[in-house]
Amino acid sequence: MATIGLLALQGDYQKHGECFESLGVSTIKVRCPDDLKRIDGLVMPGGESTTIGKLIEREGLAEPLVERIRSGMAVFATCAGLILLAKEVTGYDQVHLSVLDVDVARNAYGRQIESFEVDIESPFFGPPPIRGVFIRAPLIKRYGDDVEVLAEYEHVPVLVRRQKILAASFHPELTDDLRIQEYFLTFL
Ligand code: GLN
Repeated sequence: MATIGLLALQGDYQKHGECFESLGVSTIKVRCPDDLKRIDGLVMPGGESTTIGKLIEREGLAEPLVERIRSGMAVFATCAGLILLAKEVTGYDQVHLSVLDVDVARNAYGRQIESFEVDIESPFFGPPPIRGVFIRAPLIKRYGDDVEVLAEYEHVPVLVRRQKILAASFHPELTDDLRIQEYFLTFL
């Protein structure tokens, strides 16, 4: 039986845990390198990417995380989690793992900078639309050729996949629609 790790340094990892538990998947909190040995997939939650990044360094998690992700561990990242996976974080000199070939701009949704909700049509998931909850969301400014776009909002990717990495600029864990989580479980 697969176990999902929740990167539990800061942010809304608990909500992610509830979603996976409701799908019958067990979760554990990941706070140190040893915890990584017990998991089959990892959630990198929303929160404050600068804080999470500093804690990743402090706990000695950066290197083991990169190693596991590069060797094919499934990762589901939302919002700050996406920032932490990105190759470039525009204008910020902050910890990030550079394992996903996207460049992001933090807090970059114009006047809707704080938060907004919108229905997102995703040809990949089909109807009904995905409810996108955006909270001071990062904007994907560039993505590599091998990054697949699963959903867009205003012609900007908001849900992307590369191999076993799935990353959203919004917060699927804040709705009752678990299609994205169910899809992620197929990576395990
Ligand atoms: N604005 C946050 C950051 O830059 C991300 C917000 C979120 O995760 N909801 O880290």
